[in-house]
Amino acid sequence: MEATNARTFDTAVVGAGLAGLIAANRLADAGRSVVVFDGLGASGGRARTSLLSDHLVNQGPHALYVDGHANRILQRFGIPVEGGEPLTRGTRGLYDDRLHLLPAGPVSLLRTTLLSPVEKLAVGSLLARLPRMDPDPLDEVTLAEWIDSVTRRQAVHDLLAALMRLATYVDCPELLSAGAALRQLSMALTGGVLYLHGGWQVLVDGLTARAEAAGVVFRFDGSVTGVLGDAPHLTIRTAVEDLSARTAIVAAGSPGTAERLTGVNRLVEAAGPPARAAVLDLALDRPPEHRFVLGIDRPVYFSVHGPPARLAPDGQATASAVRYLHPDTEDASDVSRSVLDDLATTCGVDPESLLAERYLHTMTVAHGLPLAALGGLAGRPGIDAVGRPGVLLAGDWVGPDGLLADAAAASAWAAADALLVS
Ligand SMILES: Cc1cc2nc3c(=O)[nH]c(=O)nc-3n(C[C@H](O)[C@H](O)[C@H](O)COP(=O)(O)OP(=O)(O)OC[C@H]3O[C@@H](n4cnc5c(N)ncnc54)[C@H](O)[C@@H]3O)c2cc1C
Repeated sequence: MEATNARTFDTAVVGAGLAGLIAANRLADAGRSVVVFDGLGASGGRARTSLLSDHLVNQGPHALYVDGHANRILQRFGIPVEGGEPLTRGTRGLYDDRLHLLPAGPVSLLRTTLLSPVEKLAVGSLLARLPRMDPDPLDEVTLAEWIDSVTRRQAVHDLLAALMRLATYVDCPELLSAGAALRQLSMALTGGVLYLHGGWQVLVDGLTARAEAAGVVFRFDGSVTGVLGDAPHLTIRTAVEDLSARTAIVAAGSPGTAERLTGVNRLVEAAGPPARAAVLDLALDRPPEHRFVLGIDRPVYFSVHGPPARLAPDGQATASAVRYLHPDTEDASDVSRSVLDDLATTCGVDPESLLAERYLHTMTVAHGLPLAALGGLAGRPGIDAVGRPGVLLAGDWVGPDGLLADAAAASAWAAADALLVS
């Protein structure tokens, strides 16, 4: 197919999720001409927010790490980031089919029935030391090995694993790098997280409007089917047209898509298994009895996101129940669904308060996880893993920095930077 648009862009960005939007803004700020493609018909990807009844819901519960790469980059772009901290007072841990006060602070640590007095001491000292621990020597150690090395007590073991799951969204301690998990938990404990007013759509809209104002062209009329040729004469092929670009950033979500578009075949294996979750989003006409419940002996959690975030009409509540899915879990949809229904009931959701619900069976939270066997974060595929000059990658499975949206943001920034110096 001949190029149907005579214009040659400096960079074509494939994917208008957070990674693509950040890369486009960075390049446009430096005066580069940029075209962004997305087959979904709009920008945002997994950071979109939609309506459930008249409540706002993200694509599953999303928390922005205050000290993370995404927030730092959003601040740098001047995108307002406003929200509320999770209501953790009185949070509960689900253990042995009972709700226990979660040892989330000194008072609850003393009062919790989850731990014996000796275990309370062990947990108190461990949580105090955690943010000061050096994660570097643990990059090649699995999270399971590390937890085994710090405690032999089952309840402490399970509590640590649950906190790591919460911070990383990953339920795979036998593969996950302890160094990567420890960095993430320390960041969460130190800087905290925000549930965003208006949902993550506010970030998407802010980044999209900013990019448009800087001259970025958006093409939402078809998925890209190939990034062909050699830089600086790339052809970006969609079902409706061919476009020319000197360079490209593939920020299309998954390593599988990146393989398909670029013709390389080593990315899926290098990225490791995805972190997945089953999600039940709930629009409620009043808050449930419990606002935050973490599964200690099972991989689940429940949280009311609005309030604190402005997501629901006054007096009402928006909540999510999550089941973290181990890479080997291939349950039928009704298994996770009933786990999440039971969890909502345990957390005190009154069926009569339910205005609407949305069940998402298997969401890919991150398209890869930092494997201890590959050296942790440093072992993830780099922005240049395609091996074609001028064709770079970005996403939550790319590069040595951060997890989740922070990885997407950091790799997008790094990919744009690399093109600016080349
Ligand atoms: C349930 C859930 C909970 C999460 N919670 C958190 C959290 O609490 N904190 C956090 O930091 N992160 C969280 N995340 C992760 C975060 O949402 C993602 O890491 C981030 O949004 C990824 O952005 P991205 O741009 O890399 O990918 P995506 O958002 O997947 O964007 C990729 C885009 O590429 C487009 N695309 C794909 N193929 C093509 C093609 N061929 N042509 C054109 N376009 C294409 C897609 O349509 C999509 O819009 C969560 C994710 C989920 C699912």
